[in-house]
Order: sequence, then structure tokens, then C-alpha cells
Amino acid sequence: MAFDFDLFVIGAGSGGVRAARFAAGFGAKVAVAESRYLGGACVNVGCVPKKLLVYGAHVADELEQAAGFGWTLEEGHFDWSTLIANKNREIERLNGIYRNLLVNSGVTLLQGHARLTGANEVEVDGQRYTAEHILIATGGWPQVPDIPGKELAITSNEAFYLKNLPRRVLVVGGGYIAVEFAGIFQGLGADTTLLYRGDLFLRGFDGSVRTHLKEELEKRGLDLQFNADIQRIDKLEDGRLKATLKDGRELVADCVFYATGRRPMLDNLGLENTGVELDARGYIRVDEQYQTTAPSILAIGDVIGRVQLTPVALAEGMAVARRLFKPEQYRPVDYQNIPTAVFSQPPIGTVGLTEEQALEAGHKVQVFESRFRAMKLTLTDIQEKTLMKLVVDAQTDKVLGCHMVGPDAGEIIQGLGIALKAGATKQQFDETIGVHPTAAEEFVTMRTVTR
Ligand code: FAD
Ligand code: NDP
Repeated sequence: MAFDFDLFVIGAGSGGVRAARFAAGFGAKVAVAESRYLGGACVNVGCVPKKLLVYGAHVADELEQAAGFGWTLEEGHFDWSTLIANKNREIERLNGIYRNLLVNSGVTLLQGHARLTGANEVEVDGQRYTAEHILIATGGWPQVPDIPGKELAITSNEAFYLKNLPRRVLVVGGGYIAVEFAGIFQGLGADTTLLYRGDLFLRGFDGSVRTHLKEELEKRGLDLQFNADIQRIDKLEDGRLKATLKDGRELVADCVFYATGRRPMLDNLGLENTGVELDARGYIRVDEQYQTTAPSILAIGDVIGRVQLTPVALAEGMAVARRLFKPEQYRPVDYQNIPTAVFSQPPIGTVGLTEEQALEAGHKVQVFESRFRAMKLTLTDIQEKTLMKLVVDAQTDKVLGCHMVGPDAGEIIQGLGIALKAGATKQQFDETIGVHPTAAEEFVTMRTVTR
């Protein structure tokens, strides 16, 4: 049977664009359907605008430090609408770049919602297309718990387009987005409270990192409330919101921001017309090669719920393009030692096993931990401490995990990710000459076992 396309990709986000471009580059006839925005969550309501807002918030730190270096500055004034307008302009520029990337690589771009009408057929705006392979790369969507008044809350989707910076914000959640946005709101001057339902936020991160970040955020005046959860939200006559907590306390704020995880985006996707099954958590079930339970349909990225990070979606998109159209270049995605950063203030950088994971996996562990005041702060009154930590296998000397909380942690951890992928030992870390004077050199100068 002759198909309209070799590959039909649903969703022009991180994973979909990568798969489409490379498949077309390998000679396949490719279409992509996108219903909302080119570049997906990362470009429009994720990594990119988030990082721009984080930079904006970080300026406050630079201004605070300036006096120690002899600078006298007039009192600064921050204008939210300027930051948002400039951010929007940059996002539009990136949307254009994504369009060109697709069109220039020969991909047919269809703007509209795509719905599966069969195992080899997709409908976009009433028009049906057939394809030998279909790739679902529809990403995720914020998930807010079903409490009375949940429609009064916002999520990251709306936060990027707020008209004004709220004066008082309640941030709910204890994952990446909650911690990052708490830092953005607070850094830009909003009175911010972070409410997390458990004992300590960032579950799954290294214990030292979680405790250290908690202490540093508290030093900065962020109101952290653990074992706290909202039961209902009501609108007051003056327009503000009243959050009633499960323990009966009431908090009033201009904005309640939920960052309580993301669900797979499957809305009106037509899965019922195919043999595609979901896993127990509701994500699309795929095998090791991203094939769903319908053999002609594949899925990658946030919609499969493995690791919800852009570089992972990119790697999965690349793997699919290669497997289908350049099998001699196919390499499976390596899910071990994925470096990642939380762009909190200060940020976290981490790669490899946490101390807890290493112990649980049965390693005999040596921990090297260092806490120090960054050189840049020595001319200021700021007492913030940087944390660096290495988790080492005592028997093989292999470095199992590197963790950091401090300025530029994301930048520093990228290189350590290569070291861990190469299987570096602690001795090789020790034999690496440091770059002096930097904070990063601490990773190659830690000699004393902490635990
Ligand atoms: P997406 O990029 O979300 O793309 C899916 C696309 O499919 C969307 O454009 C959507 O409109 C489209 N679509 C959905 N359904 C249909 C349909 N039926 N028809 C047509 N089109 C459809 N990751 C990082 O690595 N670093 C970060 O700093 C980071 N920060 C983040 C901050 C926030 C606030 C959020 C929300 C996420 C962040 N992420 C970050 C995660 C990252 O954005 C995602 O992991 C990544 O975008 C997933 O890529 P994807 O291709 O699976 O989906
Ligand atoms: P996460 O899954 O990281 O965190 C969700 C948080 O919400 C957890 O603390 C969870 O608590 C809490 N939570 C879940 N359900 C409820 C509920 N019903 N009531 C109260 N609290 C609840 O999701 P995010 O939304 O923060 O981010 C989604 C994903 O996007 C991340 O996991 C990450 O993969 C990606 N991302 C990456 C970034 C980066 O690379 N810098 C930045 C932003 C997002 P508990 O731990 O108790 O389950």
C-alpha cells in the first residue's frame, strides 16, 4: 500500500521536531502536525522562558553584591511587563527558527490538532493522511489536584503570561517547577510561600542537596512550609485568594500557583481508534524501541513518562529517526547518568546516583562533601554556602554521583556528566588538575572522606 508519508509526527515539540528533521534528512517523506506552538513546551512555556525569568530574578543577586565591589547604584526598579514582553519577543524568534528548521529540511508542516483515525491514519482539520509510521510526541500538561476552587489557581502555562507580578504568591508542590518558580517570584520581589505536602521537597534528589537548598532558601527569606497542603481556594471580595490548608490555617495571596506534576497530553488524540495501550500510570506504553502496542505507532518524550527532560526527548527522537530510516546508525538512548539542573536560586546540578540510591543499590559508599562560601561573596555580607558532593564506590573507586548546590551548578555538572559516562574513578578526579580559582575545582580537590 502506498502511504502519503513515511512518517507522520504528532507534536512539534522537543522530541517531535528532532525526529521529523532527522528522518527527513535521512530521506524519508515526513509530516508534522502541531496544534499550539512550534517548539513545544520547552520553547514556549518551559525551559527557555523559565531560564529567562531565572536570569531576571538573578539580577537582584548581582545588584545586592555590587556594593562590595565598590559600585554605588541608585535604587533599582523592576518592571515585570518589560521582562515578559522581551521574553515573548525571544520566544517568537525561536518559533520562527523552528518553522525554518522543519520547512528547510523538507518536512510538511500542518498547523492543527491531529487525531488518530487508524493505525496508519491521522486526521488534521478534517483532512486525512496515511503514513507507514506514526510518532506520538504530544508532551504533557500541568495537573492540578481536584480541590474546590482549583479553577482560581494558575499553573506554569499561565505564569509566563501574567499581566503583573503578584505581590504575594503561594507556590504549591515540591518538584522542579515549584522550586524554580518560587525562586523566580521571590527573586523578582514577590512575597512568596512554598507549600509542599511532604517533610522535605525535591523527593528523589540527594538528601544533602535537599537539606542544603532548604537552608539556603530560608536564608533568602523564602517562606517554606512543609507538611502543608491546600484543601480549598476561595475568592475574597477584594479579588485576592484565600487558601484553606488541611490543618485549618488560612493564607491569603494574590496568586496560587500549582506545580504538582504533569499528565500526558492525550486529549482527543483518538487512541481508541488504534491498538495503543497506556501503562498503569496513564502514559503511553512503549517497548525499548519506542514502539507502542500498535506496531505502526511509536511514542517518545513526556507522553511516555520516562524522564521528562528536553535533552531526553531529543535523544529519543533521534533514536526513532535512526532506527526507522538509518538503522546502521541506531544507538539506544542511555538512561544512566543523565545530568540535570534545577534552576532554583541557588541552582542544583546533579548527575548519577544519590547517596541514598547508591546505598540502596548495595554499594559500599564513600562520601566526599564540601561546603564553602564562594569567593565572589567574600567581599559582600552574603553568607550563602555552596555544597559539592561526590558519592564514590569504595570497592571500585568509581564515582557514582556528583551533586552541587551553588552558582552555575548546571554549567558545572554538564562536564562531570561526561566523566561519569566515561566511568571515571575518584583517583582520576584527584589526578585532574583544577581550574583556579573557580568553585568547580572543588570537585577535583576533595580528599577527606566525610562518611
Ligand atoms: P513537548 O515539547 O511538550 O511538545 C509536544 C507538542 O505536541 C506541543 O507543541 C503540543 O502543542 C503538541 N500537541 C499535543 N497534542 C497534539 C495534537 N493532538 N495534535 C497536534 N499537536 C499536538 N526540561 C529540561 O530539560 N530543562 C528545563 O529547564 C526544563 N524546564 C521546564 C520548565 C517548565 C515550566 C516545564 C513545564 C517543563 C520544563 N522542562 C524542562 C521539560 C521539557 O519542557 C519537556 O520534557 C519537553 O518539552 C518534552 O518534549 P516533548 O517533545 O515530549 O513534548
Ligand atoms: P514533579 O513531578 O517534578 O513534581 C511534582 C511535585 O508536586 C512533587 O513535589 C509532588 O510531591 C507534588 N504533588 C504531586 N501531586 C500532588 C498533590 N495532589 N498535592 C500536592 N502536591 C502534589 O513535577 P513538576 O510539575 O515540578 O515538573 C514536571 C517535570 O518537568 C519534572 O519532573 C521535570 O522532569 C520537568 N522539568 C524539568 C526542569 C529542569 O530540567 N530544570 C524544570 C521544570 C520541569 P511528591 O514528591 O510528594 O510526590
